[in-house]
Amino acid sequence: MYYTKLLIPTLREEPGEAEIISHKLMLRAGMIRKLAAGIYNYLPLGYRVLRKIETIVREEMNRAGAQEIFMPMVLPAELWRETGRWDQYGKELLRLKDRHDREFCLGPTHEEVVTDLIRKEVKSYRQLPLNLYQIQSKFRDEIRPRFGLMRGREFIMKDAYSFDIDEACAEESYRKMFEAYNSIFRRCGLIFKPVEADSGLIGGSFSHEFMVLADTGEEAVVSCDACGYAANMEKAEGKSQKSEVRSQKSEYDLLPLERKTTPGKKSVEDVAAFLGVAKEQLVKTLLMRGGDKVVAVLVRGDHELNETKFARILNVTEVELLAPAEVEKATGAPSGFSGPVGLKDILVIADSAVKGMANFVVGGNEKDMHLINVSMERDFTPDQFADVRNVQEGDGCPRCETGKLIIVRGIEVGHTFKLGTKYSVSMDATYLDEAGRPQHMVMGCYGIGVSRIIAAAIEQNHDKDGIIWPAAIAPFKVIILPLNMTSGNVKTTAESIYKGLSEKGVEVLLDDRDERAGVKFKDADLLGIPVQIVVGDKGLNRGIVEIKTRATREVKEVAVEQLILSWEI
Ligand code: ATP
Ligand code: MG
Repeated sequence: MYYTKLLIPTLREEPGEAEIISHKLMLRAGMIRKLAAGIYNYLPLGYRVLRKIETIVREEMNRAGAQEIFMPMVLPAELWRETGRWDQYGKELLRLKDRHDREFCLGPTHEEVVTDLIRKEVKSYRQLPLNLYQIQSKFRDEIRPRFGLMRGREFIMKDAYSFDIDEACAEESYRKMFEAYNSIFRRCGLIFKPVEADSGLIGGSFSHEFMVLADTGEEAVVSCDACGYAANMEKAEGKSQKSEVRSQKSEYDLLPLERKTTPGKKSVEDVAAFLGVAKEQLVKTLLMRGGDKVVAVLVRGDHELNETKFARILNVTEVELLAPAEVEKATGAPSGFSGPVGLKDILVIADSAVKGMANFVVGGNEKDMHLINVSMERDFTPDQFADVRNVQEGDGCPRCETGKLIIVRGIEVGHTFKLGTKYSVSMDATYLDEAGRPQHMVMGCYGIGVSRIIAAAIEQNHDKDGIIWPAAIAPFKVIILPLNMTSGNVKTTAESIYKGLSEKGVEVLLDDRDERAGVKFKDADLLGIPVQIVVGDKGLNRGIVEIKTRATREVKEVAVEQLILSWEI
């Protein structure tokens, strides 16, 4: 392609609308433009990258035996009502009505549609297993669309759905997808990690997320420094290090309980500083609602509540903090002063790390009041202990004896999920087994954020001058930079290299603009095409051109007549 024939509106200035580097670089490199919040146009370069990723995804999905289909984007409400998700999905589901007042939504995911298709078309165990996938625009009315393609409202997803006769076969389908996902992200040139993820409340289900490791990632990725254990923060379990657990009963004499006024001191930091104790000597009491229950949950001062684990304990999908007025009603004190001692008619669940603590500080259920030297059992007894906190760096690994947990940031680019019979039961998708009895199909679903991969790849591969594409997903493999288009020799040499490489099947961009050399170098670095071929009068006088690797900036001189002959794809 000739540069002047492509729409590549590069920007010199930092775009004000972008916060993270991938978004900035995609705008500056003229790959995308915003139409509305979280909704983007893909320009030629951006679209080429997207197509590259789609091709890799297709090849690996097909290799794993999945079949490509294409489902509609506008979905009838009735299907979503069958599974209950019309009500459960919340505001992310964009609902609309047609001219006959019939309700629809824009598809955020397609379990209902594909299950409906299969229950009508598949009758016998002989037709299974089946794995169907599509690459398609999804719409989710995200509360905070941001970071460009990273969290869009309209975005491109590959979603696949497997149908099997039983659990064992479903696990085999899952394993195939897990392997295909590893191949896809490896081929995209990404550094990534599959991690165990929470799978909600569905029985017989499990799930993994594929995380591209990058400091700007929204997710915390937990892994063991000794064994292969890795999980996302929602799911990760850890063992508190013994040395870390202060104020264990056995190590201290029990001191008498005391009331201490703590005027205006509500946060763990403020209370600890005011009383002159460490944060881990405090136990915070959070009043939460889960379903129709109100629960006081106790977490050590230096720990954080993990809402996903907590919700799971309560057997609900979501929990939320009580509003300040509700806290006051439940405890008799403003929030910031809640505590478990003397709390009435409220279930108390304590994190396992709180077990056995003594001489600690809690809120006094009275404005500006805390209790010190509190002891478990003597002063109160929680109804239940459970692991409800986020792990911390340095916690012991739950799988091996010696390992310690490390935490890094990641971007979720894929998600595999063994669903079990959740949808086949609610939508009655059955097949007839060998004995002619109807059985529910066992399902899996598997998503890849195709457009998010573009952003993730840039987060992982850039420098101060621009993008550095992994070769497999680069919009072009080579960019030719004729330094002076008015020089006949430079122009004809550049064009003959272009022709020669194109004939060999190399994707080449020829910067035929009548621009200064400096501008061409800057734009070439910004666009991040892996190989730059620099054609200038000076070199040509010696019969050479320069080949520059974008990533390393390594420069090699190559004789013009050798270039095409010796080119390795
Ligand atoms: P997240 O936790 O990031 O919201 P999710 O759990 O809602 O993701 P899934 O429903 O599993 O995501 O969707 C499959 C894949 O689609 C995700 O792994 C992610 O790569 C991608 N994805 C999800 N939401 C978005 C979005 N708003 N913009 C771009 N890609 C997305
Ligand atoms: Mg989401």
